[in-house]
Amino acid sequence: MSNIDWQPRDEVHPLFSRPKSKRPGLLVILGGLVTTALVLGINVGVNVLTGGDFDPIGLYVCFLIPIAAILMGVAAGFGYSFVSWRRGIPVSIGLVIVVFVLQAGAYFLALYADYHLVGPIDKRTGEATPFLSYYNRVTHGITQQGLLCHGTSCHTPRKSDQVDYGRRALEILAFAAGSLIPLLIVGGHEYCDRCRVYLKREKCVLWIRAGSPILNTKRMNHDQLARYGKLQGDAKRAADEASAAIQFAIKEVDPVAFEEAVYYFRDPNVVQNNIGAWIEIGMLYCPRCQQGILKFYACTWGEEGETVRELRLEQIITPELTRVLLQDPPVTE
Ligand SMILES: [Zn+2]
Repeated sequence: MSNIDWQPRDEVHPLFSRPKSKRPGLLVILGGLVTTALVLGINVGVNVLTGGDFDPIGLYVCFLIPIAAILMGVAAGFGYSFVSWRRGIPVSIGLVIVVFVLQAGAYFLALYADYHLVGPIDKRTGEATPFLSYYNRVTHGITQQGLLCHGTSCHTPRKSDQVDYGRRALEILAFAAGSLIPLLIVGGHEYCDRCRVYLKREKCVLWIRAGSPILNTKRMNHDQLARYGKLQGDAKRAADEASAAIQFAIKEVDPVAFEEAVYYFRDPNVVQNNIGAWIEIGMLYCPRCQQGILKFYACTWGEEGETVRELRLEQIITPELTRVLLQDPPVTE
C-alpha cells in the first residue's frame, strides 16, 4: 500500500493539512455487510429450498479445495472494496482485521440461519435438535461434498473428527480470506492523502522512440553493421535528450517548456511496433487536486516477443503539468 504524501512536511504540519476522518471505515464495513448478507442469504435460500440437502458454500474441488467458499468470499467482499474505492477511504491493517473477523462471524451466522430454517426436529421429543448436535452432524457431512473429482485420482476421505473439523476450519478461513481479496486489490492502489481519493492511472501518456527499426543483422556486411549501430546510438541519444528535457521542465515547474518537451511524444499513433527500444511514460494522478506522478520505463522486446519494462524514474508533477497531459494529444503529421 503506497500512500503518497504530497505535502512537504516542513511546510504544513500534517495534522492540519489533512481533513479529519469521521470514522470512515464504518461506511466500508456497511457496504461489505450488504454484499455479504446478499451472498450468504442466497446460500441459505438454496439450502432451505433443497430441504438442507445442498449447501453450495460447502462445495470442494476433490474434497480438498473449498472453491465455493473462496468464490463466495470474493463476491461477499466486493462491497467493502467498492465503498473504499468510491468514497476514497484508505484500507488500513485494522480495517482488514475487522473485515476478516466480521466475515468469519457472518459465516457462523449463516450456519445458524441454516439450522434455524432447516434444522431437524427430534422425533421422540418433537423439539428441535440442539444447535451443537446439528452443527456436529453437518460438519461430519462435509466429507461427502466433493466437486470436479475425476476418476480414481481422489477418494472420499475418511470420516473423523479431525478431518471434518479441519475441513470446516478451512472453509471458514477460505471464505473470510476470499472476502479480503477485493479490498486488498483496491487498498494496493496509490492514494492521495490530501484529497482522500485513490489516484487514477494512465498506462502510457508519452511514448519516446529509443532505437531504430529492427532489421535482420545476419546478412549485413561490416559497413552496414556499423551504420546500423550508429542509427541505434543516435536514436538512443535523442531519446535520452528528450527524456532529460521533460525532466528539466518538471523540475523547473514550467508548463510552457513542458508542453514543448512532450509535444512530439503524445500522439498515440507514433507507437511503432518495429522499434527495438523505447521509453514509455505512465502517469498516476489525483482526480481532485491533479497532482501527478510520471513513471519513466525503459522498454525493449524480450526473447518471446513480450515487452520488457524497467522502471527508471518516478517524478511528481504539479497540477498544471498534469493538465497538459490530460488534454487531447496534438495530431502530428
Ligand atoms: Zn489530491
